[in-house]
Amino acid sequence: MSSTTPQWTPDSWRSKPVKQCPQYPDQKALQKSLAELKKLPPIVHPREIVKLKEHLRDVAQGKAFLLQGGDCAELFDYCQQDVIESKIKLLLQMSLVLIWGADKRVVRIGRMAGQYAKPRSSPMEMVDGREVPSFRGDILNGFSVDERELDPNRLVKAYHHSAATLNYIRAAISSGIADLHRPLDWGLGHVRDPALKAKYQEAVDFLTDMLRFMQTIGADKSHNLDTVDLFTSHEGLLLEYEQSLTRLLDTPSAPGTPSKKEYYDTSAHFLWIGDRTRQLDHAHVEFFRGIANPLGVKIGPTTPASDLLDMLRTLNPDREPGKITLITRYGASKVADLLPAHIRAVEDSEYKQTVVWQCDPMHGNTQSVSGGIKTRRFSNIFSELQQTLRIHKEQGSYLGGVHLELTGDAVTECLGGSEGLDEDDLSTNYTSFCDPRLNEKQALELAFLVADHYRC
Ligand code: PEP
Ligand code: MN
Repeated sequence: MSSTTPQWTPDSWRSKPVKQCPQYPDQKALQKSLAELKKLPPIVHPREIVKLKEHLRDVAQGKAFLLQGGDCAELFDYCQQDVIESKIKLLLQMSLVLIWGADKRVVRIGRMAGQYAKPRSSPMEMVDGREVPSFRGDILNGFSVDERELDPNRLVKAYHHSAATLNYIRAAISSGIADLHRPLDWGLGHVRDPALKAKYQEAVDFLTDMLRFMQTIGADKSHNLDTVDLFTSHEGLLLEYEQSLTRLLDTPSAPGTPSKKEYYDTSAHFLWIGDRTRQLDHAHVEFFRGIANPLGVKIGPTTPASDLLDMLRTLNPDREPGKITLITRYGASKVADLLPAHIRAVEDSEYKQTVVWQCDPMHGNTQSVSGGIKTRRFSNIFSELQQTLRIHKEQGSYLGGVHLELTGDAVTECLGGSEGLDEDDLSTNYTSFCDPRLNEKQALELAFLVADHYRC
């Protein structure tokens, strides 16, 4: 920190303007919940956070690839065995395809175990002709119209649902849910295009053979392939909550080196600042500049290239490689105009090769179709991703990851993909309470398409 930078404390954000901040009517109940949170143990441990940081350093340096995905808005109700398992399996399966394609290790982060707070464009919305407060995520209020008042008890509930979800993720992974000895169900039956199907089948055959071979020679054990890491993340939107779980803890260090204490946000391994709350002089950037966790920042059409360096200097003054992930989300029609200048601003500066460039091809491609249903076209999602890959190649930078909204369930929320979902299909199984997610088949297909880019 330079000598001119004001002192950071866990609550220095409170003196700054803050966007998307809830105004709780019952301050006493809020203080009670926050006091309870402050007593509860960390959800994640600094050792795990430091491990993720090491992985992300490899991503920034082009040695690994980052796959981050999960729900737009996670509900408390998703804290169920099947729902958690199907997401872990999908992320694992996608990462195998990416390993095959990019020939690199894949780091996995779920938008899971805490993705409960949502920024909204308007505080009120019309439901059945009635104006009601907007749904702001399960940590703040309920989706049902009679639960729209802010309820501070939900902060503590969010902690317990995060902890229970992560507990099951850890239990499932250490008990072999990701056991690659078991044949995986690649279910390519829905792929109608014979050429595409043949291509996917080639990848599946290769992966199946590779896994069998590794098992035969015992390489699966020595390479730790029967268990996988899955880190957790969410948007760090609700600063009251994040501050309550922020603790001054020992940073694990190599034997013989002096130990140091840093502030860790123990609510998740990785936190990101959203597109609506990344103003340099506002509360969210102030809070996160003091946190040792790896951080993401959403970057979009409204981000001036000149802001990027100020952002990096504020959030990562020591220029730690992999500390900051820039999550780019412009939309398929804008990415080619905007991304090159953003890349140049960073890669021509002292921050060259220190950031993880990650493509979020979801949030710039949301549209409404008839009846006001929010959806996204698979073709636009793929197009933004493909253009992003190409632009990084042209600019000599490395696209280190993707950030996706997805679910392991057979939802019908995004249009297109090999199943050919059209507008009439959207009502079949549209269950998102916020943005539309890729279903299992669409998500896997995207992984195949990225893998294909690297193999060509
Ligand atoms: C999100 O990731 O769900 C989100 C709200 O994204 P953004 O901040 O990029 O709009
Ligand atoms: Mn979203």
